[in-house]
Amino acid sequence: MTASSGAAADASNVTAGLDVITLGTAAGPAIRSGAPGIATAIVIDGLHYLVDFGLGCTRQAHDAGLRGRDLRAAFITHLHSDHVGELPAYLLWNWGAPVDGFTDDVPIHGPGPRTGAMIEHVLAAFDEDISIRIVDEGRPDLRRIVRPVDIVLPADAAGAGPEATPAMRPFEIHRDERVTVTAILVQHPPVFPSFAFRFDTRYGSVVISGDTTECANVATLAAGADLLVHEAVDLAYFASGDFSAEFLNHQQISHTTPAGVGRVATAAGVGHVVLSHLAGVATDAQWAAGVAAEFAGPVTVAQPGQRFVPGRVAASS
Ligand SMILES: [Zn+2]
Repeated sequence: MTASSGAAADASNVTAGLDVITLGTAAGPAIRSGAPGIATAIVIDGLHYLVDFGLGCTRQAHDAGLRGRDLRAAFITHLHSDHVGELPAYLLWNWGAPVDGFTDDVPIHGPGPRTGAMIEHVLAAFDEDISIRIVDEGRPDLRRIVRPVDIVLPADAAGAGPEATPAMRPFEIHRDERVTVTAILVQHPPVFPSFAFRFDTRYGSVVISGDTTECANVATLAAGADLLVHEAVDLAYFASGDFSAEFLNHQQISHTTPAGVGRVATAAGVGHVVLSHLAGVATDAQWAAGVAAEFAGPVTVAQPGQRFVPGRVAASS
């Protein structure tokens, strides 16, 4: 019996073109709003690519009509728990024919050298369940079809570290007949390496900032992109709340204010800014106004499950 609903054949899943779905929009391993944690889907001609695995992404992807069988690759910006915490559940709920899951090679790209080790540990932790379902349900061996890929830094990243992010060229990490994915280092101390990703397709281009302070490399990667999905922090919230000095300092040196997002977007000349991975309690109007102070183009504060068509400003949920 299939565990999926009729939505598997949803027209949204087979339409030609490029969609970006902000599956989850909340920042941090903290539940401050009803929004699920950070996760984004890039859908190209009905096949999809996932960036990060925040809390709730498994159900959010399913509710968006995405099925594991249509997943072609996944990408992890960095190894903070709010970006990878639900990866185990996502894999275990999207694996094998009984759940319309993936049955063939799925690369998962993430920061080297620890992404591969993390995924191997996850698979080892669920060895009992995986072994049972292979025999009992005829599923393929999850340990063989999930393929971790450690992203290796190129030569022009020499000297980079948690607080040193040299200007560099974007470098290719994935290519198939639908998309070329490039990466660049961003600055998110003390987490290193941390990446932003760019997806170039025949329909348009989208950049996902990952977690970063205001960073010139993001503008380099996003040059001329149709859509920039960027994180943002509400520093007033962390400055006025009952947070430690260390925690406020982390927010200041590792995340980007809305005005900073606006400066990056202007430097890159992007077509449309979408804010996702929101840390704080600002209203949507406040988030957007901060970006608009530095960027003349369209700005949208993402809602969970919202769908964007790069190159077309009007977005629908
Ligand atoms: Zn982070």
